[in-house]
Amino acid sequence: MPDVHNWQIGRSMKYPLQERHPRWQSAFVFNLNRCIGCQTCSMACKSTWTFGKGQELSWWNNVETKPHGGYPQHWDSRLLTMLDKLNPGGQVWRVGRQDSNRSPYGTFSGMTIFEAAKPGPAGPQVAVGYLPADEQWRRPNVHEDTANSSFSHATGEFGGRAELPEHRVWFFYLARLCNHCTYPACLASCPRNAIYKRPEDGIVLIDQSRCRGYRKCVQGCPYKKAMYRPTTTTSEKCIGCFPRIGGADGAPNATGAALEARCMTACVGKIRLQGLVQIDPDGNWADDPDNPLQFLVRERQVALPLYPQFGTEPNGFYIPPRWVPRNYLVQMFGPGVDHAIEQYSCPDRELLAVLQLFRTARHIIARFEIRKGPKVAEREVTLPSGHTRTQEIYNDTVVGYDRNGRQVATTTIEEPTFERPASLHVNSI
Ligand code: SF4
Ligand code: SF4
Ligand code: SF4
Repeated sequence: MPDVHNWQIGRSMKYPLQERHPRWQSAFVFNLNRCIGCQTCSMACKSTWTFGKGQELSWWNNVETKPHGGYPQHWDSRLLTMLDKLNPGGQVWRVGRQDSNRSPYGTFSGMTIFEAAKPGPAGPQVAVGYLPADEQWRRPNVHEDTANSSFSHATGEFGGRAELPEHRVWFFYLARLCNHCTYPACLASCPRNAIYKRPEDGIVLIDQSRCRGYRKCVQGCPYKKAMYRPTTTTSEKCIGCFPRIGGADGAPNATGAALEARCMTACVGKIRLQGLVQIDPDGNWADDPDNPLQFLVRERQVALPLYPQFGTEPNGFYIPPRWVPRNYLVQMFGPGVDHAIEQYSCPDRELLAVLQLFRTARHIIARFEIRKGPKVAEREVTLPSGHTRTQEIYNDTVVGYDRNGRQVATTTIEEPTFERPASLHVNSI
């Protein structure tokens, strides 16, 4: 197998195909501190793309309650257990030496799904994986709102108070879709070469005319985001709303600038920010500090990849929820969790401004600009590490531009208020 560089695990790794990169990559940041589990995103995708016969159980976007929920059920714990059996106790990170470009979170010294794959009864495996049973797809929101609580030796009881930095009783909503991975396991697993990654935006698609429904992609995708459709006997997956990314919204006044996907624009909790990042021929993110995704993911490292240790280099990134036990989060997002939560707990002036851009525009924001405003507040913040910091808050204005340089978002740190005069209260009760 060729060697490729995976910056998320901080080292080169084995991948069945030669390294090749798109010019741009569609990516997203989800702020898990804000998701309310309303499923509007899931319904936006379903009512657009998967409302046909045979797609009843296909939720390309789903939101599951962690730690107990999962669609399909137990998708992540089952794969983690399989990897641990193949590489007992080896799934660890070395965080000593970090290079902000090549290994920002340190180096993963365990085996990825590609490296741990072994020949099985059906021939050589490309990636460690499994085919979920039909009943595991049937309850997409199983264990909704089910909290986890642990036994307290101090009180002799289960449960406990919900106080930062870690709640003793906790759950959180994890919104998921295909990560349009840099090294997709679905693509590498397909014996028909039916799956491809678009050079213009890195979106991973299944060519329906080539697919024969062998379900190797369903087996190989560690996130279980390729799904089988019995009525067509082919596999399907999230198409990244590629017509929208290409700028087609069907409206007569469309400008041709990239639009966010359906599940992104519908988000009620304003947890989502989608973007396109420019990729070097050798796979690095090009230096583009005013791109909001580049700022959040690479420069500030406040948003982290989901299960980077699987090795596919997913392009979905998450701001981890502040109240969740750190060992659980580190397993899910890698060793950058403490750094990310520390920053999010007390964002500085620039970070606070960029965090306001979530769901301010239908268009993908290619560049942001901060216009300075007056200081409006100052407060002492106790960080999860126990340190205290003084946060100064300025009423800055943050402006977003699309890829054509058109201004598409303007917002301020302080939400403007308007007091209606009594004469306008005609319809009030
Ligand atoms: S998340 Fe799964 S389906 Fe999507 S690109 Fe990655 S491996 Fe393929
Ligand atoms: S990007 Fe589009 S196709 Fe993919 S989950 Fe979101 S709405 Fe569905
Ligand atoms: S629409 Fe947004 S807030 Fe609602 S469940 Fe989806 S990601 Fe969470």
